[in-house]
Amino acid sequence: MNVETFHHPDGLYLHVPFCDGKCPYCAFYSVAFTPEGEAGWLRAVRAELARERAEWPELRPATIYIGGGTPSLLSGEAWMRLGEALHAAFELSSVTEWTVEANPGSLTPERLARWKGLGVNRISLGAQAFDDGVLRRLGRRHTVAQVREAVEAIGAAGFDNWGLDLIACVPGVGPARWAATLDAALALRPRHISVYALTVEEGAQLAKERAAGRFAPLSDGRQLARLATAEKRLGEAGFARYEISNYALPGFECRHNLAVWRGGDYLGLGAAAASHRGGRRWTNEADISAYIAAPMPPRELERSNVEGQALDRLIFGLRTAEGVSLSELEQRYAPPVTGLGRWRRTLEQLAKIGVVVEANGVWRLTRRGREVADGVAVELMG
Ligand code: SF4
Repeated sequence: MNVETFHHPDGLYLHVPFCDGKCPYCAFYSVAFTPEGEAGWLRAVRAELARERAEWPELRPATIYIGGGTPSLLSGEAWMRLGEALHAAFELSSVTEWTVEANPGSLTPERLARWKGLGVNRISLGAQAFDDGVLRRLGRRHTVAQVREAVEAIGAAGFDNWGLDLIACVPGVGPARWAATLDAALALRPRHISVYALTVEEGAQLAKERAAGRFAPLSDGRQLARLATAEKRLGEAGFARYEISNYALPGFECRHNLAVWRGGDYLGLGAAAASHRGGRRWTNEADISAYIAAPMPPRELERSNVEGQALDRLIFGLRTAEGVSLSELEQRYAPPVTGLGRWRRTLEQLAKIGVVVEANGVWRLTRRGREVADGVAVELMG
């Protein structure tokens, strides 16, 4: 059993599996929203909360992240009951950041007011694009006008800490349109922007479209150019790229995700949610019917493998601006991680070709490294 000597504040993650449709690029677990589904899911979450409270009584989350799916689809009544259950299950007085993900089409002033009452203090809005044609092509069910209304409502409800998600590398969106997208996002004055390249995930509708010749992703060169434009424009506006896909104004980095990337502990609730506690990792089955039907959600336990955890910490750490040190891995994971010597040699080789850099014992991806981050991970895993 490994002993983690590095402590990071614990987190709580809740996966809301409902959506009002399926975006063709999305491979996340989600199901169509129905009031009956919501009621069953809520019962199961309350049962899971009660059980976890017994299993992990000392959990005092510092961060809560409610993601999905589309959490803003849940009814006001469901939010009320969910809030009661969360407050009853765990001591929430240490929570410094409580994020809820929302989609523009379902974010209402009433919902925002309820979240404020629960203690939510951060909103992540799935804007994705600032062009109705592009939104339609992405299979999104909202409009640019709804993004603007949602942002106005977030401000009117008194939320200062909020961010937007954008999808880069959409075929047909040339350099000028992409730059205009970034400018439109910046004009709304968010504190945080996530930029994800449109990728073809296995299991997503887009994979079938590509196989049928109806979808062709942008070339690698064009993708890199779009992502470089994002880094430049957001950087000029004062946003730091604190993780490969995440930009924030100073002090507005997502603490929950930072703690996860640093290898902290978190409890994941809901179908498809992953958890990590003291070296053990498990994932609830991605099946809402099973989740609702079973008194205990079916869980897939991952092997408690020190090597795997240390490697995850290394790969995720490299992707952050703060980087990661091998001596931290050495001290943190016991028994000693045998891969350390090999990882060090691989990093030294990668440094020679300019994709990683070491300073004061801390390793990070370089600009070129961020462009080939998946390749760096493959080298380290090899
Ligand atoms: S991208 Fe978001 S809104 Fe679209 S199907 Fe996936 S989880 Fe739902």
